Parts: sequence; structure tokens; C-alpha cells
Amino acid sequence: MKKPKIVSLLLSGVLACGVSAVFAWGTWGHTHINKGAILALPKEMGMFFFNHSDFITEESTVPDIRKHTINDKAEGTRHYIDLERYGYKTRAEMPRTMDEALAKYGKDTLNKYGILPWYIQDMMVKLTDAMKNKRKTEILFLAADLGHYIGDAHMPLHTSINHDGQATGQEGIHAFWESQLPDMYGNSYRLYGSDVHYIADIEKATWDIIDSSHRLVATLLRVEDKMRRDNPEDKQYVMGPDGKPKKNKYGSPIHATEYAHVYHELLNGMVERQMRLAIEHTADFWYTAWVNAGKPDLTVLDPEYITERNKPIYSEEEKAFKAGKIRGFRVDKDFQ
Ligand SMILES: [Zn+2]
Repeated sequence: MKKPKIVSLLLSGVLACGVSAVFAWGTWGHTHINKGAILALPKEMGMFFFNHSDFITEESTVPDIRKHTINDKAEGTRHYIDLERYGYKTRAEMPRTMDEALAKYGKDTLNKYGILPWYIQDMMVKLTDAMKNKRKTEILFLAADLGHYIGDAHMPLHTSINHDGQATGQEGIHAFWESQLPDMYGNSYRLYGSDVHYIADIEKATWDIIDSSHRLVATLLRVEDKMRRDNPEDKQYVMGPDGKPKKNKYGSPIHATEYAHVYHELLNGMVERQMRLAIEHTADFWYTAWVNAGKPDLTVLDPEYITERNKPIYSEEEKAFKAGKIRGFRVDKDFQ
């Protein structure tokens, strides 16, 4: 009896709440997704990406900086899709492209309810075009940003109106799942899944990601909801001297170590799996853009000595990645 009540509250907009307080995947997650995707590429195209792995790795969090720090109004809607708001049942009823979505719902609705899958498709078109024309800066910028949005699409709560558990009394679960847990456990994750695949149908691949992410929403909420009922507040959170849950630098409550541990166990590898898939799919999308662009040799865009200098480091990092470790950069943790 509980569920319909929640849905009706959601639909009435009573609990509508800005997405702006929420980061996606956190710094650890996004940087590792983009760096991992570089190392998953086949060598013929991966060399150019590796030459620029610093840029692509750092740029992975820039879309969130545009949203939160620069307060770019056009940015927010690209990071999520509130499927419930669109009355989502199956993808067949959803507009296939951004133009169709605009025609069906209008700009204001898209701005409110999110455009993530359509934006990914648009970025793919632009990236393919940039590769075709060998426009170096555009390739790097678009590829890195695309990695961010594909990463977001693997975070289940980016597909739901209940994006921070605000409709179910679970505020803070978003950053808990995508940022605190990877900060705590990410170094033990196996993030190499498989070699790249060519994507024959981008639209289908995009919705496959959105669908499978969305199917995880109920589980990740239900598991924590039960834990929340079973544990008093001082067992759920690290408590501050004022007797309230302590917050991290972004204002998200810090969950207690034991609580985080149990939640992570009960999720049964969900966070690790979603990160691994985000890496795999980011590499697949980049690879597909490159194939569709006619497999251009992108290393001609770099001085030869840079490529020569990086070759042995690339081989080493690729080997380490396939053995389970992503190396080559340091990252600040969001939850200290
Ligand atoms: Zn994002």
C-alpha cells in the first residue's frame, strides 16, 4: 500500500527538489571511468587518447563543475532523466532523438525532467564529426564530456525522480552510493570488463544503459531503507560535536564506516559493476565514433616524440589495468 502513495506524492510535485545539490559519481568515480576507458581502447586509437589522458581524466568532472561551480543553467538537465516524470513504461514510447523529444515535450519540460540519453546521442554525432575532421581539441573535449554523461547514465538514481532518496526519507543516499562507497572501496574494484565492442545501434545502446540502471533504483533504495529502520541515527552517520550528522565538503552527510560496510555488502557488487560497465561502455562509444569516422590516425595530431615517449608508459598502464589496477593519476577524495 505504501508504494502508490509515494508515487502520487512524487507526481504531485510536493517533494520536487533540485538536482543541483547532487554530484554524480564523485571525483573518484568519474576520473576512474574516463581513465579506465582510455586503457580499454584498442591500441590503434588508444595511443592518441593516452597521449592526452591527463586532460581526459581531469575533464571527466568538468561537466559537474559547470553545473555546480559555474552555475551554468544549461548544464543541469544533461546529467539525468526523471523517467517517472515522462510516464516511462518502455523505451518504445519515448522519443528517439533530441529533436523528437523537443517536438513532443517542449524545451521547458526537457529542462525540468532531464535529457541524459538524448544528450549522449547528440554528443556521439559531434564526436564522430570531430574525428572525421581531425579537430583535435574538439575530439578531446567531446570524448571526455561524453565519458562523464555515460558515467552518469550508469548511476541508477540519475534515471529517477527520487534522485537523492528525498521522496522516501533517504536524503544523502545519492552521494553515499556514488561517492562515499567508491572512495572507501574503489581501490579494491576490478574495473576491467572486456575489450571494446562496436555499437551498431547507438540509440538502442543508450536506452539499454538507461533501462538497466533504472531497474536498480528500487533495490538500492530498499536495501538502505531497511538498514535505516534497523539503526538509530548515530549508527547511520558519523556524528558531529553538535549531535548532528557530520557533512563532507559538499554538504553530504557522512555515513558511519560500519553502516557503509554493511550497505556495500548488501548491494552485492552493484557499485563496482556499474563502474565497470561505465568504463566498458564509454570505451565502446568512443571506439564506435572512431570507426564511424573512418578510423583516422589521430596520432598525427601530436608531435611524434610525445607518442614515442608515452608508448612504454601506455603499455605498462594498460597491462596494470587489465590486471585490475588503474594507475597514472592521483585523486582527491570527496569523503575524507
Ligand atoms: Zn554529472
